[in-house]
Amino acid sequence: MDTTTLRANLNRVQERVAAAAARAGRTADEVTLVAVTKTHPPEVIRALHACGVREIGENRVHEALEKQQALADLADVRWHMVGHVQRRKARHVVGRFALVHSVDSVRLARELDKRAGAAGVDRVDVLLEVNVSGEATKYGFPVTSPEDVGAFLEDVEAILNLPRVRVHGLMTMAPLVADPEEARPHFAALRRLRDRLAREFPQADWRQLSMGMSNDFEVAVEEGATLVRIGTAILGPRNP
Ligand SMILES: *Cc1c(COP(=O)(O)O)cnc(C)c1O
Repeated sequence: MDTTTLRANLNRVQERVAAAAARAGRTADEVTLVAVTKTHPPEVIRALHACGVREIGENRVHEALEKQQALADLADVRWHMVGHVQRRKARHVVGRFALVHSVDSVRLARELDKRAGAAGVDRVDVLLEVNVSGEATKYGFPVTSPEDVGAFLEDVEAILNLPRVRVHGLMTMAPLVADPEEARPHFAALRRLRDRLAREFPQADWRQLSMGMSNDFEVAVEEGATLVRIGTAILGPRNP
C-alpha cells in the first residue's frame, strides 16, 4: 500500500473515531488507536510510524518479537499484545510490551508475575480479556451468567494480589456480525462489568476498555472504548 493511501485510511479512521466519540459526548483524545499489523511485514509498521502512529498491536508472540527486532531503531513504538498468550510463552512477553490486552486466566497472570520476577522486570501492564458474548470460540474469562461473575470476581482478586501484574482494565472481542449494532450489547456489558469491578476493587485501575475492531469500532467508542484495535480498515485485507 502506498503512503498516500495509508495516510488517507488513517485519517478516515481517526475522523470516524472522533465522530463516534462526539456522538457519545466524549473527545477523540479519550480513545487511543492501536494499529493491528499482524501478517504485515515490518516495512508496513515503518510506514505507519512515518505517519505518526506509535501504538502497534500484534496477536502472535513470535511474530511480534521478530518485528520488534527488525524495528529496534524505532525506539518510541508502544507494542501491544492483543492475541492469546500461551503460558509457555509468558517469559517472552515480559518486558517487551507496553500493554498485554489478553490476560485470560489466573494461571497466565501468575506465570507473567513469576517470569517478571525472574527477569528483574518490576511490572507487567495488562488488561483482562473477558468473553461477554458466550461464544465458545472466544478466549477470555467467561462472564455471561451471575455465577460466572462470582467466579470472575474471585479470579480478579487473585490477579490483583500478584505484585508485578498491573491491571488497567478490560478487553473483549465482539462476535463477527454483519450489522455492528449487534455488537453494542456486548460492549455495553463490558463497560458495566468494568464499572462493577471499579466499585468492588477501587484500589485497582479500571480505566481502560479495549474494544472495537474494523467492523465495529464506532459502536465500541460510543459505548466507552478507550483503546480500539484496528487492522483492516487501515491496512486493507491481510495476507493469509
Ligand atoms: C486482528 C485483530 C484485530 C484487528 O482486526 P481488524 O478486523 O482487521 O480490524 C483486533 N483485535 C485482535 C485481538 C485481533 O486479533
